[in-house]
Amino acid sequence: MLPGSSSLEASPALVLNADFRPLSYFPLSLWSWQTSIKAVFLERVNILSEYDRSVRSPSIELKLPSVISLKRYIKPASHPAFTKFNLFLRDMFRCQYCGASDVLTFDHVVPKALGGRTTWSNVTTACASCNIRKGGRMLKAARMTPRNAPIRPTNYQLMKNGRRFPPNFLHESWRDYLYWDTELEA
Ligand SMILES: [Zn+2]
Repeated sequence: MLPGSSSLEASPALVLNADFRPLSYFPLSLWSWQTSIKAVFLERVNILSEYDRSVRSPSIELKLPSVISLKRYIKPASHPAFTKFNLFLRDMFRCQYCGASDVLTFDHVVPKALGGRTTWSNVTTACASCNIRKGGRMLKAARMTPRNAPIRPTNYQLMKNGRRFPPNFLHESWRDYLYWDTELEA
């Protein structure tokens, strides 16, 4: 199976769990077409929707799957990964000190130099100027307070926030399976 076209690289399949919910939201569970087709041949997934594009081998032509579901249920993780995007999403892409949404970066609430760790509960979203203003000081010394205490979010919390920040690319066949669908329609 050698399509030899780079446009095929951009045909990921949305991967759903056996209960037809995305395997993960952040990041959204997407598999490359190669991985998806391999899983189809290994009979590990069902195809729920397809792209118009297909791949050909000498004996077979197969449409690329756009939505697949696992045959066997996998217990989803209850907490999202600690990533840059997820942290911004937890804080709704706003500086937690002044509310600005431009030039966002991160602030260690307890500065690294004072033993603060890079964890959900010690990192908050801050704009560049608040970050500089706070410098290497503790909150009290800087007379600054984050609007929301930094906590480790659950998947549910991030999903709630994610409704307001859908990803840039959503294939139309994915919409029925994604939580923000109703929001887009409203
Ligand atoms: Zn700020």
